[in-house]
Amino acid sequence: MVIRDARFVMSNTRVEQCPTGSLPEYAFIGRSNVGKSSLINMLTGRNSLAKTSSLPGKTQLINHFLINDEWYLVDLPGYGYARVSKESREKWGKMIKGYLAKRENLSCLFVLIDSRLPPQAVDLEFINMVGEMGVPFALVFTKADKQSNTRTRQNVQVFLEKMRESWDELPSWFISSSAVKEGRDDLLNFIDDVNRQ
Ligand code: GDP
Repeated sequence: MVIRDARFVMSNTRVEQCPTGSLPEYAFIGRSNVGKSSLINMLTGRNSLAKTSSLPGKTQLINHFLINDEWYLVDLPGYGYARVSKESREKWGKMIKGYLAKRENLSCLFVLIDSRLPPQAVDLEFINMVGEMGVPFALVFTKADKQSNTRTRQNVQVFLEKMRESWDELPSWFISSSAVKEGRDDLLNFIDDVNRQ
């Protein structure tokens, strides 16, 4: 897929205020600092479409971008900030669950996982919640350039093994590096394929 056009549309805190219509939608989420903004910018080929290194405590918004007038890319606020208040965490949970439960045109939620780390409880809990809600999702293992290919693949396998403990079927998964533009074609082709289904 060639990205001809990528435009910011709006930011919201409530799913009811998200763009209307039936264009397919692909959302991105993960632990803070997992590389979500960098991945969105790499995919769209725009340097600052998504704001990198968003600070904890910053307003948490659902951000819609329109791609090629054909589909929405959604930047969702991350989870797992260490120093976030209980109140903000609850607000985040309510907003994300509302979005995931009610956004009917959500074609796939990409859950980003730091490829350098062993399976993190916060990621597994989030994935389990998404699965229980019946949301279609895929995994993206980020920052692959930070270690050898062998190590990345080992970490991916460990993560998938961990998922097998509670899942019969594993999701699609991708390896990415925004630093060296790895994974871009795979992800855009996947989106293309889902759009055609
Ligand atoms: P976000 O908080 O999930 O949106 O994460 P950011 O995209 O802001 O990235 C967090 C930090 O990781 C920044 O310093 C990025 O430059 C760095 N980063 C993100 N993706 C990559 C990557 O693929 N490779 C490397 N080496 N660094 C990355």
